Amino acid sequence: MRIRVFAALVALFAVWVWVDARAQSGGPTVSGAHRFEKVAEGVYYATASGTMNVGANSPIIVSGDEALVIDSEITPAAARALVADLKAVTDKPVRYVVDSHYHYDHSHGNQVFMRDAQVIGHDNTRTRMLGNVLEQYTYLNSIKPIPERVAALRQRIAQESDPQQKKALEQQVANSLAYLEQVKETTVTPPAVTFDKTMTIVKGGREMRLLYLGRGHTDTDVVVYLPKERIVATGDLMESVVSYMGDSFPEDWIATLDRLKALDFDTVMPGHGVVFHGKGKIEAFQKYLRDVITQATAMKKQGLSADDAALKIDATAYKNEFASIRGVGVDPAAVRRIYQLADRPE
Ligand SMILES: [Zn+2]
Repeated sequence: MRIRVFAALVALFAVWVWVDARAQSGGPTVSGAHRFEKVAEGVYYATASGTMNVGANSPIIVSGDEALVIDSEITPAAARALVADLKAVTDKPVRYVVDSHYHYDHSHGNQVFMRDAQVIGHDNTRTRMLGNVLEQYTYLNSIKPIPERVAALRQRIAQESDPQQKKALEQQVANSLAYLEQVKETTVTPPAVTFDKTMTIVKGGREMRLLYLGRGHTDTDVVVYLPKERIVATGDLMESVVSYMGDSFPEDWIATLDRLKALDFDTVMPGHGVVFHGKGKIEAFQKYLRDVITQATAMKKQGLSADDAALKIDATAYKNEFASIRGVGVDPAAVRRIYQLADRPE
């Protein structure tokens, strides 16, 4: 008996040490629809906590008495949640929003910030958002498959016996259905402050450089670089997962990533995935792009359709860097884009 009490005390002590270590290392703060990871003093990385579809991850930079948010998220509802949830880590108001690029999951919360903040983006982001982005296939592909996906999830729920798993699937259904309602509120709102090559914001002794390094994931990608902290927020120009290629300029992208690598940084806060360090992953993604372009181009010459080529392209050589690669085959949108640019260069 005495041994059991002792064991229980040891276990209790271990938990206490663990909890204390987490508190001291500043483990993530969960607040509403978001989870905030502290990356450096005043620098946070907001990701979804799972209760809502918020879209992209949003880096937050608090400088002096103001906060800058990179990406306004997927809907006005998500943006409002971000503003509210952010209070768990800072009481400073959001005065700047930077659109890393024009894609809906990064910029459709812009309207929420227009009154109290400067919404900044590349000249091309404004041009794109003044066009018909709500009819563009990348946006429509976020909406159209939902009913089918919900039906599939409901089937899995019916067969699931693990209550934890069941609950997670039910949350996914709820988030998807809520998203279909939340998009109705969207008024596409382009950035009101735009630039072409660079723009620098200095606040509270912190320098934030907004850079357009060339075409890549889109023709609107802006990175936010903190030279002193050696941190860069890359949007979807560089992710810790394989970035979407459906609106990309794959050849230019490789060269643009060379210009990204030329910056002096250690920490990357990407638009999707997780914070990562160093330049090895960027190098790997450049090789991935080169490889996918080469294979797609060869298959086009052989007369394969883009969708057939997508099933055959083998990028498994990169699965150690990008865990989402599980077997042969790539996103058909990537191959369609490569085919399209081969026929009609932009
Ligand atoms: Zn994107």
